[in-house]
Amino acid sequence: MPDICYHSLVIKTQAMTVDTKFLENRKSELEKRRDEILRELNVDTIQVADNDYSAKFIDYGDKEDENAAEVADFEKNLSLEKTLEISLYNVNKALKKIDEGNYGLCEVCAKPIDPKRLEAFPSATACMNCKKKSL
Ligand SMILES: [Zn+2]
Repeated sequence: MPDICYHSLVIKTQAMTVDTKFLENRKSELEKRRDEILRELNVDTIQVADNDYSAKFIDYGDKEDENAAEVADFEKNLSLEKTLEISLYNVNKALKKIDEGNYGLCEVCAKPIDPKRLEAFPSATACMNCKKKSL
């Protein structure tokens, strides 16, 4: 085998190793985050189906002021649940992308997202430039 081919083969293999390692780390972080979200959702919610949860309506009593507190609490739980559901959705989407091999690409401009951003925020779906534009 000529030296030049062997050399390029080694470089290619090294690059792939780094990439796989990076993806494996992001994947384990995403799986950990998914477990955390599921645990949090289970504290105040009942699971209806995959990616679909409904909050438990806690019974405080029949008095009017107590009902108001109940509704306020319910809304608070609901918004927390909503936030968790969105996080869960994004985490599942990122995990699916890792499996499909298109993880780390911006959904808006299709350019690779900065790996540092993915390390800080593994479920990121847009690069910093596009994120800034959408804000
Ligand atoms: Zn972008």
